[in-house]
Amino acid sequence: MMSRREFLKAGTIAAGVVTLGQAVTAGPAAAKEKFSGPAPEYEIYALKYAGPFRSKLAFVLWKHGWNEEIDRYYYIWAIKGKNETIIVDAGQGPTYAGNKKSPNYVNPVEMVSRLGIAPDSVKKIIITHIHQDHAGGMEVFPKAFPNATFYLQKQEFDFWIKSPIAKKRAFDESSDPLANKILADMEGTRRLKLISGDQKIMPGIELLLTPGHTPALQSVAVNTQKGTAVVASDCAHIARSFKEEIPSALICDLPGWMRSFDKLKAKASSIDLLFPGHDAALLRDYPKVAEDITRLV
Ligand SMILES: [Zn+2]
Repeated sequence: MMSRREFLKAGTIAAGVVTLGQAVTAGPAAAKEKFSGPAPEYEIYALKYAGPFRSKLAFVLWKHGWNEEIDRYYYIWAIKGKNETIIVDAGQGPTYAGNKKSPNYVNPVEMVSRLGIAPDSVKKIIITHIHQDHAGGMEVFPKAFPNATFYLQKQEFDFWIKSPIAKKRAFDESSDPLANKILADMEGTRRLKLISGDQKIMPGIELLLTPGHTPALQSVAVNTQKGTAVVASDCAHIARSFKEEIPSALICDLPGWMRSFDKLKAKASSIDLLFPGHDAALLRDYPKVAEDITRLV
């Protein structure tokens, strides 16, 4: 286990642009000043909006299982508290999903209403990373959720929206230009909050910088009745990734990814409370509360 100091250092190196000062202000001491009293508990829901997508196991478990196949699903998540529900990710946009003929696609906006959440009650939407299956829904989300502020890591935004490297085919194929244009137009407005490093955004909800799959993917640590759970998104595509410490084949920064595995394992109260981005188990192994929606905690 890394000490806090070592961890900050590792995080600084992985993030590249995160200064130690920023990391310290985002830490527990600063958070305590802002939020006092015991953290409230939240429920976590997985909303399956597309799939199954059949692929080689080696795609989601890098270099393991070239001859095995696996079903992947596409999800967004809802973190439900007493007073508000936070949405994690926007899923695929309807235009992109239509062009690619995503199987069983349901507009993620519709999935949120299936959970009984009024669109204008949503104040916070966390985007974990700018891949088409997580941020593509920005095509429709800002209009559909008119009172929501979107939370993204600044380094993730700067890479996908501004770096010429993101236009190279190896990156560009993972992203949705229509959604990225809308994100670009939101820069500097009150509707987009660009975060640098770890940050508590509410009592019991913390954004965690977990690079590896993309330059600055973020996961979400959530206080629940079972302890700290983490909506990890694609820090692992399937639960086996956390157990075996094998990433998916879509790697941006391999050493960074290994540090992110360590970070999330140290954060979650148990490995079963680390929720991966595309595992069929999220849909299959948890109580169903509505069509294609399960309660994880
Ligand atoms: Zn994904």
